[in-house]
Amino acid sequence: MVEHQDSHRYFLQWFVAQSLTTERNARQLHEKACNKYDVHYDADSFSAFISIINKNLKPIFMEIRHGKSEDDGTSYYALVNCSEDEHSKLATSFTANEIAFFKRVLESIVSSDDGYLPSMTLVNLGSELDVKISASASESLLTKLVEEKWLTEIDGDFSLGPRTLIELSMYLKNIYNEEIPDCKMCMHIVIKGQTCANCGVRIHLYCAARFFKGRDLDARKCPGCQANWLHEVPRIRNQRETTNTSTNSDPEPGSSGLIHEMQRAGRTRTKRTSR
Ligand SMILES: [Zn+2]
Ligand SMILES: [Zn+2]
Repeated sequence: MVEHQDSHRYFLQWFVAQSLTTERNARQLHEKACNKYDVHYDADSFSAFISIINKNLKPIFMEIRHGKSEDDGTSYYALVNCSEDEHSKLATSFTANEIAFFKRVLESIVSSDDGYLPSMTLVNLGSELDVKISASASESLLTKLVEEKWLTEIDGDFSLGPRTLIELSMYLKNIYNEEIPDCKMCMHIVIKGQTCANCGVRIHLYCAARFFKGRDLDARKCPGCQANWLHEVPRIRNQRETTNTSTNSDPEPGSSGLIHEMQRAGRTRTKRTSR
């Protein structure tokens, strides 16, 4: 087993500043870290590299954890504090009343039929709180939750973001045990997905896209009960992977191209939300 080295420390230092990034960016940073400290780089050793860091993080109850966006299946890695409850995780950037709002939002999205809700429905939740939040304040709060990747917004519909799925998955499982199924294809929790009208099996949109790709309607059967699968095959737009094709970006802790990229992504989302 390789020891924890400068390359791991470099990688971790960058992660502490970011807290969440795409797998693509994390892999680039792995390569950069190895090159910088003259360590043999092997793309296949990425998981082992993360494992070594996690082994060293264990005594301080931190972990780099993997998860996926429910919209396009983009892989993310997040640095997670395992000892904190969901409240402490949110408390660094939200007030108690904002957390109460976010919990209502989570509750509504999780118990919705399709795993997403229009902004109007969510904005109205602010008026149901003990300490009410105005519509405009609720709207800005939703924008902030999207920017920080707790929520995802596509064409005015909000679903759970990758950060919630990674950092709050245990919380969601504990609170909404009955309501959150595991995807029949990948066995991870699925909130936004396609559901079998016959047996209730649910699968992620990106898992459905992969599973049913190129199959005629007659050949599309539920992986649970073999009933006909009546949904369209989802078209997955994987924005981050297609727009970020540069292979020679140069991540630096604190002021990297990756950070700019993430900020740019945040600004794009803000514009879309306020439209
Ligand atoms: Zn799945
Ligand atoms: Zn079925």
